[in-house]
Amino acid sequence: MKSPPVPTRVLVLGGGYVAIWLVRQLRSAVRRGEVELIVVDQHNYHTFHGLVPEMLTGKIQAGQIISPARRLFAPGRFICAGIERIDVAKKEVLLHRALDSAPLTLSYDHLVVNLGSVDDLTRYRGVGEHTLRLKDYFDCVRVRNHLLAMLEFAEAEPDPVERRRLLHFVIAGGNYAGIEVAAELAEFLRSLLKTEYPGLKLEETHITVVHSGERILPELGRRFPRLSEYAADVLRKNGCTIELGQRLASATPSEAILSDGRRLATRTIISCTGAARNPLLDQMPFERDKHGRLLCDAFGRVGGRADVWSAGDCGAVPMKNGETAPPLALYAMQGGATLGRNILRTLQGRSLRPYAFTGMGDCCVLGFGEAVGQLWGVPLKGWFAWLTWRGCMVAYLPTWSKRVRTLLDWITVPLFGRDVTSVSGDAPHMGVTRELYETGQTIVRQGDVGRVMYLIQSGSVEVLATDGRAGEQRLAVLGPGEHFGEIAVLENRQRTATVRAIEPVAVLRISREQTQQLTASFKPFAELTTARRGVNPSEVDSSKRLSTLS
Ligand SMILES: Cc1cc2nc3c(=O)[nH]c(=O)nc-3n(C[C@H](O)[C@H](O)[C@H](O)COP(=O)(O)OP(=O)(O)OC[C@H]3O[C@@H](n4cnc5c(N)ncnc54)[C@H](O)[C@@H]3O)c2cc1C
Repeated sequence: MKSPPVPTRVLVLGGGYVAIWLVRQLRSAVRRGEVELIVVDQHNYHTFHGLVPEMLTGKIQAGQIISPARRLFAPGRFICAGIERIDVAKKEVLLHRALDSAPLTLSYDHLVVNLGSVDDLTRYRGVGEHTLRLKDYFDCVRVRNHLLAMLEFAEAEPDPVERRRLLHFVIAGGNYAGIEVAAELAEFLRSLLKTEYPGLKLEETHITVVHSGERILPELGRRFPRLSEYAADVLRKNGCTIELGQRLASATPSEAILSDGRRLATRTIISCTGAARNPLLDQMPFERDKHGRLLCDAFGRVGGRADVWSAGDCGAVPMKNGETAPPLALYAMQGGATLGRNILRTLQGRSLRPYAFTGMGDCCVLGFGEAVGQLWGVPLKGWFAWLTWRGCMVAYLPTWSKRVRTLLDWITVPLFGRDVTSVSGDAPHMGVTRELYETGQTIVRQGDVGRVMYLIQSGSVEVLATDGRAGEQRLAVLGPGEHFGEIAVLENRQRTATVRAIEPVAVLRISREQTQQLTASFKPFAELTTARRGVNPSEVDSSKRLSTLS
């Protein structure tokens, strides 16, 4: 008896836009048993970035921007795992399970590398430590919660200076994402303060967009400078400040520092300044373009090989006009469709078809009923642009359930109001995190409640105490390897001193819970935190420790 043919294994690394459109091309071949399709991603959902600004501001429910990977990639097999190593010589990929790093090795006949991009954390000092970003779903949820938390904190804050700091939102990057976030945020503040936060005044809030170029929306502005000016006018009318020709030089917990040295007091910096290539690409022996993307031929093949394919944010596929497809969702979708068709044609021994998409249009939404954009080279603005944008968003959401639910949100949220619950306000205070401070910035303030202690990694700080008669006095200067803030943490009392950076400082911030646990279980740490008062750590109850500074 003749044994059934062995299906060709197509392994897709990354379940992004490329994968979704590739799977659509290969579905029938999978059902016929000709192809064994496997998609691997670290998340079991796909994030739709086009609606992120609306999700951040509660115009749609948070879950509308994600769709379940298992449904998107059926009848292919989906594996939820991290990708660790790609070995094109052995035609193998090593995966790890998030739970316990258990390894899993998969071999392939055809490999599709669709790992997207990652946040560029090298653009300016503090970008990794003190900015909010929008790449992953959890990043977006964090931003959403943070915005609401700032409003909550501001409503309870009696000091007008700190209120303004809490209500100042800085957005780095005047590209599509940055401008849409600024515009939605302006609308969000206008609508929310009236109804939900009567103790806050709109005049106390402020949004600043920092953009390094001469005009915002540079891609659109190159062809249609008037549209870019129109978008800037709409933003300014809605109370936003646009800082052109400026970059963020540094981000800290309480200030955004501009390239001209100005310091903006803020507790919120949202970074929309660009992406870097996925570090996994460094393991591949293939040529890359100047942005670090894998160089592909017009059919999507990498390195002249017939078994490795790429497109989207990590594959530079040439277009008919001589440029490479830009890192945008529409181009990634068309890239996925091209790869799917060409893998199938390779299996059937037919000639391949080149990537033919040259663009359709783009759009930037500027709040309810306002947008700018272009469709096949025709400039659009106002209501018509906005309606076109909404139509495209619904059409490109990857599942019918998300389309219907998003439409329902658009109808019901104006009637019942936005969701204003912030569900993880405490998360940033947990565990050990790194923080950066610039010269003159206060790290802890005398009188504050002590909830964290600090270890100095680099730079130095001064410890200052103020008493009614003597005024402010310097108690100590501390440098790398030293620590402060433990007294208030271990004794559960208010800070006894202020600590200020006297040069740029990097510190590790350790929460009260972690400090207590480390002190109770690790003798050298207990000695460290109690040394200043000469207390024998073994004699001290971990919840009632004594020390001297702050
Ligand atoms: C905030 C934001 C807004 C945007 N807005 C727009 C817009 O309005 N219009 C537009 O056209 N484009 C927009 N983009 C760009 C668009 O999202 C990208 O061009 C598109 O996602 C690229 O698709 P892709 O398939 O190449 O990669 P992605 O969709 O990024 O998919 C890559 C996948 O690889 C997975 N992955 C990566 N590393 C690993 C690993 N080690 N292990 C396992 N899995 C891994 C990731 O989880 C991800 O699912 C936006 C991007 C962002 C961040």
